[in-house]
Amino acid sequence: MSQLDSTPRSLGRELQSLVWQPHGPLTRELQQAPAGFGLGQLPQTRHPDRTIGSVCGFCSVGCQLRVHLKEGVAIDVTPAPDYPVNVGMACPKGWQALSVLKADDRATTPMLKDAAGVLRPVDWETALQTFTRKFQEIQRQHGPESVAFLSTGQIATEEMALLGAVAKFGMGMVHGDGNTRQCMASAVVAYKEAFGFDAPPLTYRDLEESDVIVLVGANPCIAHPILWERIVRNRHRPELIVVDPRRTETAMQATQHLAIRPKSDLLLFYGLARILIDREAIDKKAIDREFINRHCTGFEEFESFLRDLCLDEVVAETGISLERLQSIARLIQNGRRVSFWWTMGVNQSHQGVRTAQSLINLALMTGNIGRPGTGAHSITGQCNAMGSRLFSNTTGLLGGRNFTDPQHRSEVARILQIDETRIPSVNSASYHEILEQIDAGKIRGLWVIGTNPAHSWIDQNQFQQVLDKLDFLVVQDMYTTTETARQADLLLPAAGWGEKEGTFINSERRIGLIRKVSAAPGQALADFSIFRLIAEYWGCGELFREWNSPAAVFQILKRLSRHQPCDFSGVTDYRMLEVCGGIQWPLPEGSPQPSAERRLFEDGRFFHADGRAKFCFEASRPLPEPVCSEYPLLLLTGRGTAVQWHTQTRTAKSAVLRKLAPSEIYVEIHPQDARRLGVEPHQKVTVTSRRGHLLARAFITASVPVGQAFIPMHYPETNRLTQGVFDPWSKQPAYKSSAVRISTATTVAGVVTGREIVYPESCEH
Ligand code: SF4
Repeated sequence: MSQLDSTPRSLGRELQSLVWQPHGPLTRELQQAPAGFGLGQLPQTRHPDRTIGSVCGFCSVGCQLRVHLKEGVAIDVTPAPDYPVNVGMACPKGWQALSVLKADDRATTPMLKDAAGVLRPVDWETALQTFTRKFQEIQRQHGPESVAFLSTGQIATEEMALLGAVAKFGMGMVHGDGNTRQCMASAVVAYKEAFGFDAPPLTYRDLEESDVIVLVGANPCIAHPILWERIVRNRHRPELIVVDPRRTETAMQATQHLAIRPKSDLLLFYGLARILIDREAIDKKAIDREFINRHCTGFEEFESFLRDLCLDEVVAETGISLERLQSIARLIQNGRRVSFWWTMGVNQSHQGVRTAQSLINLALMTGNIGRPGTGAHSITGQCNAMGSRLFSNTTGLLGGRNFTDPQHRSEVARILQIDETRIPSVNSASYHEILEQIDAGKIRGLWVIGTNPAHSWIDQNQFQQVLDKLDFLVVQDMYTTTETARQADLLLPAAGWGEKEGTFINSERRIGLIRKVSAAPGQALADFSIFRLIAEYWGCGELFREWNSPAAVFQILKRLSRHQPCDFSGVTDYRMLEVCGGIQWPLPEGSPQPSAERRLFEDGRFFHADGRAKFCFEASRPLPEPVCSEYPLLLLTGRGTAVQWHTQTRTAKSAVLRKLAPSEIYVEIHPQDARRLGVEPHQKVTVTSRRGHLLARAFITASVPVGQAFIPMHYPETNRLTQGVFDPWSKQPAYKSSAVRISTATTVAGVVTGREIVYPESCEH
């Protein structure tokens, strides 16, 4: 209490308020009593009359939340104690899953841009007629390929399959991609080439069973908090080797932190492979020849490739001494159950595919796959990234097939009972190729579903110029205020997680149920219903008569999966998913009751025709944009906190999550760089790359190395700086290595104030 408050009169008031408050809840409403459902004590008003399990709609960990229902209304969530993924845990995003549905900026009615360029509410009839008329007009004038879609890993598998089928088999589109291109594409290609199918082998239990865990470009402490908890539950006192340029929250917990130079990871893993091969001369167990001979191809070529590798170059490029490399190789060699895990630090690179494969190679050559606590595992990002990989019908044909394979097209045509000529025989353009085609005037209509590329795509200045070239932009979203929705010609209001049914597939291939526990606001509809309406208005509804509910589509997906590596024809229905706590694919028809956690490749058979895994490799390539005197710092981007999700479209709607997150964009700078640049803590600085600049608050910390800077991905300005460089095989953007400079000057509306840092020479570009 302040001095002012301590007068006898105010003291009296304070005391009185403790015993009698004329306003607020009654004592009996606050009094706690057993709530049932294993929830412990809760105030009466929070007592549910039933609970229902639904997989979380944020990240790919795929935790199950128990939604508390009272008189049919969802009032709370708690983590499910018996779900094999999260066993009673949830991160702050999961706990706040319901609050983000109640935002003021929910899209509650379709909106159409008027002549003055203002979005105005219209009815569904007008919206659907306009959608059809505009896109059909564009296709008539410029051909079927002139309209494309960009989808998301955030909607249910049944929805993304329906979208892909309606767009490609009904509307005649050829090009469609998803925001999973931004996070998972490199892992997909890596697995396909190495294992013969996009098949992450993991089960989360492996995190508890390894004695050596190698985490690369991954920060599960904040990015996948429940996976971090699974590591914490490991009773084998594992060696935790974290490979990351930054001293992240996870790196701080590591037994070994390898703070390598950005994007030297490929060389690092080749170097470790080379050391292990060299060591075989003195210790036969350094690599697992028996496993290699029985289950792999391409090792001789890999070995001979590594013989030309210069370890001095590895040391110079990675910044890790030879002694340290040897000691890490020894840890891998001596580990009985070694597992390798990676996320965006690997995938979002100019050589993401080969880097992912260099980890797969290490697992294969040491026989660390198909046994408990082993394997090479990509952890996905979005809640349904895995569903998108198998069933979005974007760059791959339904069920993990290829558009260019006539046999695959004929299988899908037979299963769906459609004319085979409706299935495109060419691959879709990838995300950035779609944008290039918009730029070139070939694609003129774009349908964006559940993603926010006007924030998340690289090189935003260029992206905005491309977007301006469209004749018609349709955005389908929960909110009216995303950076992309604001630019729509037509906005279709979509229901969100919790307002619709379907399934997600998580990182460990677990198919889990999402449930409708709340009504969508206003006229917003489930994406599933919007796609069905569009099919009807387009005139191709007849093709999709059987696709009349998510549960019906689930049966179609089962048929599409049959005899594929992802076969889940043995999952009878949603009820079975509910009873089993989700089910990992594969589960072919006739399989016995599945155990709660299953890993792939326990029989040593992979999905290539010869049943073997393949060693894949290629020489490392230099950084596309090295630092120079004009742009002397390397900018890393990534997740900032556990309470922010991607573009914050949803997490910023929760007052709780907002309170826990930094309110404005910041840049992490090492103290030495800050001193050199004259930057004070919390000072506003300008960060400039060749593509643009932004203002950010300086956060001076030794967690980022000298010569590097870090800005979280969650702020719309971040991608003004990033560069349009892609992995050549996966076409995934390299978000994590742009050359920048930082100055204490701040530019507001084109006026420069403060002190510019002058660098001695300019660089050639
Ligand atoms: S870890 Fe992921 S799935 Fe689990 S509660 Fe958090 S956001 Fe949801």
